[in-house]
Amino acid sequence: MSAVLIRGGTVVNADRQFRADVLCIDGKISAVGDDLQAPAGTQTVDAGGQYVMPGGIDPHTHMQLPFMGTVAVDDFFDGTAAGLAGGTTSIIDFVIPDPKQPLMDAFRMWRGWAEKSAADHGFHVAVTWWDESVKRDMGTLVQHEGVNSFKHFMAYKNAIMCDDETLVNSFRRALELGAMPTVHAENGELVFLLQQEVAKMGITGPEGHPLSRPPMVEGEAANRAIAIADVLGVPIYIVHVSCIESAEAIARARARGQRVYGEVLAGHLVTDDSVYRNPDFTAAAAHVMSPPFRPKTHQEFLWRGLQAGSLHTTATDHCVFCADQKAAGKDSFAKIPNGCGGIEERLAVIWDAGVNSGRLTPSEFVAITSANTARIFNIYPQKGSVSVGADADLVVWDPQGTKTISVKTQHSKVDFNIFEGLQVKGVPTTTISQGKVVYSNGELRAVRGSGRYIKRPPFGIDFDAMKLRAQVTAPTAVAR
Ligand SMILES: [Zn+2]
Repeated sequence: MSAVLIRGGTVVNADRQFRADVLCIDGKISAVGDDLQAPAGTQTVDAGGQYVMPGGIDPHTHMQLPFMGTVAVDDFFDGTAAGLAGGTTSIIDFVIPDPKQPLMDAFRMWRGWAEKSAADHGFHVAVTWWDESVKRDMGTLVQHEGVNSFKHFMAYKNAIMCDDETLVNSFRRALELGAMPTVHAENGELVFLLQQEVAKMGITGPEGHPLSRPPMVEGEAANRAIAIADVLGVPIYIVHVSCIESAEAIARARARGQRVYGEVLAGHLVTDDSVYRNPDFTAAAAHVMSPPFRPKTHQEFLWRGLQAGSLHTTATDHCVFCADQKAAGKDSFAKIPNGCGGIEERLAVIWDAGVNSGRLTPSEFVAITSANTARIFNIYPQKGSVSVGADADLVVWDPQGTKTISVKTQHSKVDFNIFEGLQVKGVPTTTISQGKVVYSNGELRAVRGSGRYIKRPPFGIDFDAMKLRAQVTAPTAVAR
């Protein structure tokens, strides 16, 4: 038996906070209450003056992703270990099949890579092409492999981009299966054209990257995906919402009663597009990711979306490339491998900018860093909750602790930190994963291969009833 007792802290869940001890036995939370007695041999963690929260869930990472001619440098061990050091105890990564590659082949390949994970993980599976075998494999993934979400890239033309035919077919299939479609919303045709036009203007450096992907490119794709989802009656989750245009599209759709969910990256909340005008290529290129960082005005809008509940989750899109890899785009910004880090920093950055500023309560912080993701992807309350029976994935959080973020002290293997020099107040002091202390006051004890694959069951949608309802309501819609 392994047991850990967290004593004297304030438990923060998405719905409330209260003083309680938390007892973890054999990987599960076995008791939450006052003055808990621990069995002999129990390890005790003193959480006096601190918060005890569900471990962070990062619903958007790309560990060891093969992309743009290279491979992201944090593998599943490095990346999940960095996450544990920052209080994040689960990730949902992406299986991204090449066009024409069978989904099941890609899924098995990624599952193999992820065996070295130090934290629990799941996968969204990307639909990058369409035929009957894709439709069949989606069914196998949902019914047998614990996948309940599918990703669609509306950008990256001539690579992994989905056309509308694929979007429509895949969304429809997701609905039948009770799975959640998700989209990277950028109009890939516009990006393709603008990349060439910006290059023709003689702009080849990283400053061309945001010029080729303006906010309306994201807004268009978000609106289109939302409209397709509305017609089909399927919910939709939009990853890395970075700008007013797409955040507004989500808010409007929700006001009409549509189930639309939005994710925001920690980076987009605190970093603006001035980073691309840094004359140092390495520093500017290190920030190249899509969608790009935006002018400052967009940040406040994203915070308000999180406050209002029109945006729901936060992530990182952790996908890191070193300077020598980013140098592939020395003569053309379009060839810079896209991706930035943040899995270790996400919680502290959002606490500091969100809770310390009064934008978020601690419970709202838990909602957007953990609980909402668990709910939307159907693993709540196994994850995302400090409650009896839940997985013992916890972070003990010192709201008074401070830290200066730096590449010198990070655990990620990449040679850059997009939050370099940022001073944050509010840091993890202990991280518990599967009931074991894996991080304690600067000491990381991540164990290669200890992370489990977490199956996510489908949603209980009655497809036949829904079709019937569509028939009943259709004439009204026409009459209106
Ligand atoms: Zn991504």
